[in-house]
Amino acid sequence: ENNPALAKQVAEVAEVAGYLWQKGWAERNGGNITINITDVVTDEIREMKAISDKMQIGTTLPHLKGCYFFCKGTNKRMRDLARWPMENGSVIRICDDCASYEIIADQVVRPTSELPAHLSMHNYLIGSGSNYKAAMHTHPIDLVAMTHNPAFLEKDVLTKLLWSMIPETRAFCPRGLGIIPYKLPSSIELAEATVKELADYDVVMWEKHGVCAVGENVMEAFDMVDTLSKSAQIYLTAKSMGFEPTGMADELMEELKVAFNLPK
Ligand code: 13P
Ligand code: ZN
Repeated sequence: ENNPALAKQVAEVAEVAGYLWQKGWAERNGGNITINITDVVTDEIREMKAISDKMQIGTTLPHLKGCYFFCKGTNKRMRDLARWPMENGSVIRICDDCASYEIIADQVVRPTSELPAHLSMHNYLIGSGSNYKAAMHTHPIDLVAMTHNPAFLEKDVLTKLLWSMIPETRAFCPRGLGIIPYKLPSSIELAEATVKELADYDVVMWEKHGVCAVGENVMEAFDMVDTLSKSAQIYLTAKSMGFEPTGMADELMEELKVAFNLPK
């Protein structure tokens, strides 16, 4: 159907999916993206019949009643999503019980196994009055490697380290990087722990697994992870040259905070 607003969102998901593959962050089916498309669905989509049974989310999310999401399909590759978004993603509608969903599309593509975390994040964002519509999870090599060091799992140790590598990271990831201790992938426990961190962070690490970011759109979410990954690369390049990087001094970080009017 002709829906330029929706087509633009899907095209942006496809573009970012391609970047994730090119970055080396998306082995096999690694990572997932969901977009809250409720604002851009037309009556035609609202009237579409479900092509699946009602499926359980595994939790109840009261703010999602009647919402629509575009989701990467479970077990689908980012590099395929980049070229064929509708074959590798699905559109779901949240049912009135706020605990189940149905697929509405031409093909039955089951949504990502991380749906509990994604939908819990969207539920939190709506409830807190945010204008964020995108959630992205990916497996950046450098950032995940850093979570294998227990010292980096202490609150805001990585935030400070990564901020201090280059001014851009302080300016463009102004809420820092949250840390979530290891939880089973796709579990409700992981979803709940992730949502808790969103009060303080737009980007969080899932220990020894990946990163999760939310933003107004998927490009914003990607840019924050890309910027943090750049800082991680600078850190590890210095280390591999045989020295500990000095990092920007606290005064310089404070100067940036004031100059850019940053929230933290
Ligand atoms: P899906 O293929 O189900 O989206 O899972 C990928 C992933 O990264 C799980 O954490
Ligand atoms: Zn993952």
